[in-house]
Amino acid sequence: MALKKIRVLGDPVLREKSSPVKKIDENIQSLIKDMQDSIHAGYQPGVGLAAPQIGVSKRVIVVNYDGTFEAYINPELEILESSSQMQEEGCLSLPNLRTEVNRPKKVLLKALKMDGSKIEMEAEEMMARILQHEVDHLDGLLFIDRVDKKTKRQLMLEYSQLESEEDLRK
Ligand code: ZN
Repeated sequence: MALKKIRVLGDPVLREKSSPVKKIDENIQSLIKDMQDSIHAGYQPGVGLAAPQIGVSKRVIVVNYDGTFEAYINPELEILESSSQMQEEGCLSLPNLRTEVNRPKKVLLKALKMDGSKIEMEAEEMMARILQHEVDHLDGLLFIDRVDKKTKRQLMLEYSQLESEEDLRK
């Protein structure tokens, strides 16, 4: 077990553009294992996690949804249906913050699996949302960047209040 601390807003690694994985070696395999262990280490269990969230700036995401755990390396997304849907999202890196985010509802995922094989998969609804959220992390984007300016300001305010309440409890 290698539980890694989940990085939260303010940590610069969350704002970096992650680099592609050149070779799927033991380092990448142990990174994925760490991500699998750490997905439960946040303030609540996550449905997905991106490598930067445990401090590693590499293009690797994991999805823990609908009873299955899967890792995707160098994931790329193509939007198949641009009609979007609003749905509430949260993020392990933004503890206790939730808001509705508009995202395209159908995407095509191209990625490598842990064994090096290529995968192409269509995803809709919740799965499409998780993939978009996690791939955003690899580009240094958070869900608060996907809402309008006013909502973002409100969320940031709410977040700083949550943080100071947390400090008072310590
Ligand atoms: Zn997230």
